Amino acid sequence: MEHSHGASRPSAANVDATQLATELTERFRQVLSTKRLNDLSSRSVQSRSASPAPRDFGTPQPPPVQNAPPSYSSLRNIPLVPEPPQDARSLRFKNMLHSLSNMPLRWENPGLLDEALRVVPLEQIYSEAEEESQILQAEAESLGAGKKAAWGYQDCVVRALMRWFKRSFFSWVNNPPCGRCYSPTIGVGMAAPLPDEQARGANQVELYKCSLDHCGTYERYPRYNDAFVLLQTRRGRCGEWANCFSMLCRAVGSRVRWVWNAEDQVWTEVYSVHRKRWVHVDVCEEAWDKPLLYTQGWGKKLSYCIAFSADGAMDVTRRYVRDPTKYSAERSRAPEAVLHHIMTEIRNMRRNNMGKQEKFRLEGEDMREDRELRTYVITSIAQSVSKINADDIINGRLSARADPDAQKALEGRTNGNAQWIRSRGEQGRGTPGQDPHNQHPR
Ligand SMILES: [Zn+2]
Repeated sequence: MEHSHGASRPSAANVDATQLATELTERFRQVLSTKRLNDLSSRSVQSRSASPAPRDFGTPQPPPVQNAPPSYSSLRNIPLVPEPPQDARSLRFKNMLHSLSNMPLRWENPGLLDEALRVVPLEQIYSEAEEESQILQAEAESLGAGKKAAWGYQDCVVRALMRWFKRSFFSWVNNPPCGRCYSPTIGVGMAAPLPDEQARGANQVELYKCSLDHCGTYERYPRYNDAFVLLQTRRGRCGEWANCFSMLCRAVGSRVRWVWNAEDQVWTEVYSVHRKRWVHVDVCEEAWDKPLLYTQGWGKKLSYCIAFSADGAMDVTRRYVRDPTKYSAERSRAPEAVLHHIMTEIRNMRRNNMGKQEKFRLEGEDMREDRELRTYVITSIAQSVSKINADDIINGRLSARADPDAQKALEGRTNGNAQWIRSRGEQGRGTPGQDPHNQHPR
């Protein structure tokens, strides 16, 4: 066999570039993989060195509070003494939150995370991130010496990952099309999972029937909630999107939270080391740092938004509901002091095996975040007070001063079809009132 030296052969430069890209990708993978293993071994060292002595930070036993605080008190900065759940309703809420809090733990599997990265076009994502972070850096420098770029490199990595995930990887499923004739289907209820569906973690299967009478084929839509299975199915509604995407954020090395909302929405938060705060990310909407998307943007009322990570739990409702008089739904699942207790309980559980330093660092982070969340409430009160100024009263104008996050939120959903969006009442502000407790599962 002879090698051709003709024009069809790629030039040496091209070969080098391709080879370089491949080598770089492999290096990224190895760096991330090594980092994960290091994190893991340092954790297990910590837990081994931790003494088996009884915990000195055991559950506080506060005096029972007689009168339950009013709803929304957590949205208004009333300090609370944590109170263990006692009534059946609070206990149910506790069990549910504990069970939800397990979601981010399922991603903490170094082997599977390495494996997951194999489906991600890392070269493309890292080069987009590099480019964007250089632009942000240049923008900051043009504003003057000492100005900080809006986002750091790792933030840009997650942003690039989000664009790729939404535009070329995952697809939205409303009613799955007929597998035989591709006609639209009609939902006919739920079906029991088949053994192979169950083996891959689907406990619920939605059943659809082809809308063509002479076809009548049934289409199954198993709701997988294993992020690693979703890498293969690559489709779903916001639950599947947020699950799979959050896992991939973890795979590229970010700290990540899974945010559960009682009004049937779910999204991601990623920790920005550059900004030292958690950032809202909704991959379905390709939304980055737009926490007011659901309220000011879609006109939804939210009651609870709870963030879970591998190392904690936090009631982050105040980040998403800045104007409680307009956008908060009733918080009636448990007294606020009980919710506070449950959050502390989950946090302690997650941090049980950590070293003192790590715990201390996370507590500092919680305190910073609490301050951030309190600021939102104070800003909102200040705004509602300051919008009533003498000039406005004299001229008969009463207009609110905008929260900087509010402008970003004034747009409707971008994903899902129109009917589905209407049924959820999420077309953006000013839509006639719809039942926010929508009929569709996540
Ligand atoms: Zn059909």
